[in-house]
Amino acid sequence: MNILITGGAGFIGSHLAKHYVDLGNKVFIVDNLITGNKNNIAYLPPDQISFFEEDVTVFDFSTLPHIDIAYHLASPASPIQYKKHPIETMRANSEGAYRVLEQCKARKFDRFILASTSEIYGDPLIHPQKETYFGNVNPVGDRACYDESKRYAEAMTMSYHMTFDIDIRIARIFNTYGPNMELNDGRVVSNFITQALENNPITIYGDGTQTRSFCYVTDLVLGLVKLGETEDIEGEIINLGNPDEKTMIKLAEMIHEMTNSISDISFESIGEDDPKMRKPDIEKADKILNWHPRVSLEKGLIKTTEYFKKMLSK
Ligand code: NAD
Ligand code: UDP
Repeated sequence: MNILITGGAGFIGSHLAKHYVDLGNKVFIVDNLITGNKNNIAYLPPDQISFFEEDVTVFDFSTLPHIDIAYHLASPASPIQYKKHPIETMRANSEGAYRVLEQCKARKFDRFILASTSEIYGDPLIHPQKETYFGNVNPVGDRACYDESKRYAEAMTMSYHMTFDIDIRIARIFNTYGPNMELNDGRVVSNFITQALENNPITIYGDGTQTRSFCYVTDLVLGLVKLGETEDIEGEIINLGNPDEKTMIKLAEMIHEMTNSISDISFESIGEDDPKMRKPDIEKADKILNWHPRVSLEKGLIKTTEYFKKMLSK
């Protein structure tokens, strides 16, 4: 198969690229490296990878060969990064999605998979979050550039499906972690692990009672692939994540202990609209894709810590 991954030099995209390359497919990556890193894909065989260091808002997708599955992942994903690049984030999710969908309309690309996010639920008022929940989002807050552009991307994707009968699927991805996250990514798992390994204070934002549910990246990639390859599920929107919910205090304690760190815990101010709780309901993924995560948080954190140890020693 020919697979397109926009944002393929990033954290999740690079694992997705490896999955498809390992199975003998050709992978086309369009990534402007705003938050990604070429090293994430440098070791993949050049005869199976075509890398375009380009922005999805200007890249001419019509120059690519026929694509079987187009995964649209291009977008900063870490709150620190999208707050630093709000306009770029909005454009990658809106114009970027539109431009890839146009190739589906021209029947050059067969199938479109949108990497959406649990952030479309905002600071949720129901728990756990089911796909039927419409969310609680501040349209002009600190996180709006990400939340609202992802919501726009979902609406745009669904509009192309309904208007032009394009085969689309939407993944609502919950917090995912693992190797290939950047040292300066700014998300909680990479921050806590690097702080603990360097014996710097572990920075908990707010009082640390807010919750997240963390999915190891190899599990997430298998979910994305199933969403991309299962037949007769056009138009489906599916949560992908691990329902094992933890407070940030608990996460800090686990990482502190696992790394034998002597770091202090420091409590810092929390950003606007930071969701107080988040946990996916994955009944739909289980039923439609027969998918559920397998890697425990303990095991995933050990693998991720090994990766960051290597990166810090370079
Ligand atoms: P990441 O920042 O590591 O990867 C995103 C990639 O997109 C980077 O390589 C970046 O350079 C590229 N990119 C951004 N804007 C671009 C543009 N205009 N043109 C070309 N490339 C561009 O983040 P990630 O965690 O790998 O996230 C991948 C996707 O999954 C994103 O769409 C994100 O919103 C979604 N997602 C991730 C998580 C998570 O926990 N990791 C959760 C929910 C959703
Ligand atoms: N967080 C934290 N310390 C950090 C980074 C993040 O306490 O150094 C908190 C953040 O406030 C949020 C949670 O951890 O409540 C998850 O943050 P992350 O940036 O990983 O992703 P989010 O789920 O907020 O998009």
